[in-house]
Amino acid sequence: MIKIENLHVSVGGKEILKGINLEIGAGEVHAIMGPNGSGKSTLSNVIAGRDGYEVTKGTIIYKGKDLLEMRPEERAWEGVFLAFQYPVEIPGVNNTYLLKAGVNARRKHQGEQELDAMEFMQLVKEKAKLVELDQSFLSRGVNEGFSGGEKKRNEIFQMAVLEPSLALLDETDSGLDIDALRIVAKGVNTLRAPDRSVVMVTHYQRLLDYIKPDVVHVLVNGQILKTGDASLALELEERGYDWVREEAAA
Ligand code: ADP
Ligand code: MG
Ligand code: MG
Repeated sequence: MIKIENLHVSVGGKEILKGINLEIGAGEVHAIMGPNGSGKSTLSNVIAGRDGYEVTKGTIIYKGKDLLEMRPEERAWEGVFLAFQYPVEIPGVNNTYLLKAGVNARRKHQGEQELDAMEFMQLVKEKAKLVELDQSFLSRGVNEGFSGGEKKRNEIFQMAVLEPSLALLDETDSGLDIDALRIVAKGVNTLRAPDRSVVMVTHYQRLLDYIKPDVVHVLVNGQILKTGDASLALELEERGYDWVREEAAA
């Protein structure tokens, strides 16, 4: 699905990512863990094509194409989706309208027919039910006046509707209560398929109780210092990150 090689990224002249190597196969779920400020959001944002980041070295190949050559909207058409750590409010832009534009832009790009209003509402209702989102949220402005947890759930709703090939979830679990966490997990687990990949950025093992990752990476100070299986997340929860730093230094 995606292969990142020796990726170096700077923000405002300061190097944040210092040689990331990461390969994610189709059908895999990877978790990226690591202390605050290590570059997790930077990595997610660079993949999604958010501006303000300067790639100074390295390559990202996505579905065989040079991702860094693609505009953010092209990445989205090709199935890249980012659930933001801090979802933005877009007052006045209807939640459903935004999604319809997104779904149909992608269909058009893939040479498929656009969904008509009825087909689209059917899709949206089915997905809203899946993530237990009240129908009243569909007609509200995007994230307008939503609580923190509702915004996160809305991100998962968007993901469920858009059915991305590569879903990047940046700390979607932060600030969620157990019920919301369960719903986020349900959304991700429903998305899981042989032709889809998921990257979960998280600080906590608890989300991983519900979504079992195939691979866990530890990102520290702009580098992946350790990679392991799901048991690594448990070990990090118990022992913190210092031992990873010490092990890497040795
Ligand atoms: P994480 O998501 O792992 O907590 P981030 O990727 O958000 O880490 O940040 C990594 C580092 O990059 C931090 O030191 C942060 O302050 C810095 N950084 C991120 N974005 C910006 C920005 N727009 N301007 C300046 N520094 C930034
Ligand atoms: Mg952080
Ligand atoms: Mg972050």
